Amino acid sequence: MDPSAGGGNASEGEEPPLTEKRIDWPAEAERIEGRLELLGGISESDGGLDRPPFTRSLRRAMEETSRWMEEAGLLPAVDSFGNLLGRAPQEGRKPALLIGSHLDTVPNGGRFDGALGILLGIAAAEILLPRARELPFAVDVLAFQEEEGARFRSGCLGSRAFLGLLESRDWALTDSRGLSLQEARDSFATDGWPRVEPYSREGIFGYLEAHIEQGPQLEALGLPLGLVAGIVGQERLLFSFHGEGGHAGCVPMASRRDALGAAAEFAIFLEEMARQQPGAVATVGELHCRPGAVNVIPKQVDLSVDLRHPKDEVLDRLSHRLQERAREIGKRRKIQVSSRRTDRLPAIGSDRGWRERLASTVGAIQGKAPQLWSGAGHDAGILGRFAPMVMLFLRCRRGISHDPAEFVSPPDIACALQAMVGFVESFLP
Ligand SMILES: [Zn+2]
Repeated sequence: MDPSAGGGNASEGEEPPLTEKRIDWPAEAERIEGRLELLGGISESDGGLDRPPFTRSLRRAMEETSRWMEEAGLLPAVDSFGNLLGRAPQEGRKPALLIGSHLDTVPNGGRFDGALGILLGIAAAEILLPRARELPFAVDVLAFQEEEGARFRSGCLGSRAFLGLLESRDWALTDSRGLSLQEARDSFATDGWPRVEPYSREGIFGYLEAHIEQGPQLEALGLPLGLVAGIVGQERLLFSFHGEGGHAGCVPMASRRDALGAAAEFAIFLEEMARQQPGAVATVGELHCRPGAVNVIPKQVDLSVDLRHPKDEVLDRLSHRLQERAREIGKRRKIQVSSRRTDRLPAIGSDRGWRERLASTVGAIQGKAPQLWSGAGHDAGILGRFAPMVMLFLRCRRGISHDPAEFVSPPDIACALQAMVGFVESFLP
């Protein structure tokens, strides 16, 4: 409503910013909390929250979310992958500011990871709707699926599909029962929703995502919110150590070529290397020892490496050092070593200008606006390749996530909503 148009309540005078008027932030946070509670009960199995992509539970979560989108004045639709969109009704064709996160969870997950970002987006879109005409963009809300990669072992598939980035090898990925991504998607019912065409790059103004921090830094700082400086680069490698098997009782120590001895030395080196490089984390998460019997010398060991750092140059250097050291260990121990890179995601910084806008609204709420790097991947890392991206982190209790103990307090949720609305309002003329 235009306050200068006369009529209405003239005593209200100039239209104040939405962040300062009429909005009962604690009540908004309570409503979001109630919705989180409801979504937290929609699970594929009893005992713990488990909502994999392309399942009945995911569809039910989409139905609830779609209803809330409608209540907020948005028009729900799905894309060809099965992502849910709440689109702003608009007469012209403005590009869209997308606010989103993911609806799928890891097995035995928490109720805030992903869902909170979507519900904050819906609440923000509803609050902003009266100013929609004045904004240079439409505010659309996105609920992706298969961000976690828990089913098809590859993360952010929904956001990649949304941008048309999936290749045939992605569609051929299989779950633990041998069902391909293509088959899972094809058998997933999205009847009842209109289908939207993919957004063109020009149709995307930018992307905003709110997400739980999944780490302890904000709690340590005593602050509800943080800005995401960027999402770290990731490299995944597979190393194989080939030695010689033999009887555990009969082959003397001096003549052994134990593949596990070499792999163990390598894993310790990796840990030490990451400890000495500020900002780096490195993990051996999988290790397979063959033949794997109590009385047999390990003949072959395959292990996975997950390496992360905010700077791609540093990531390259660390990866190179690992491969060098593996070869050196192999040579000394007479073990054949091979390695291959299985995945690489470049580091991606959030948009500097957008970060400054968000910093000023966060600063106004809590005095400070700390910047953190995200060690976890997010849909924002995909969207940010093509459009300005910014992320807001919310403090989570004890830094715990991917666990039923995951928790964000309602007052912190209220702060996040206020910051998001303030950020969008900063684009008003
Ligand atoms: Zn998440």
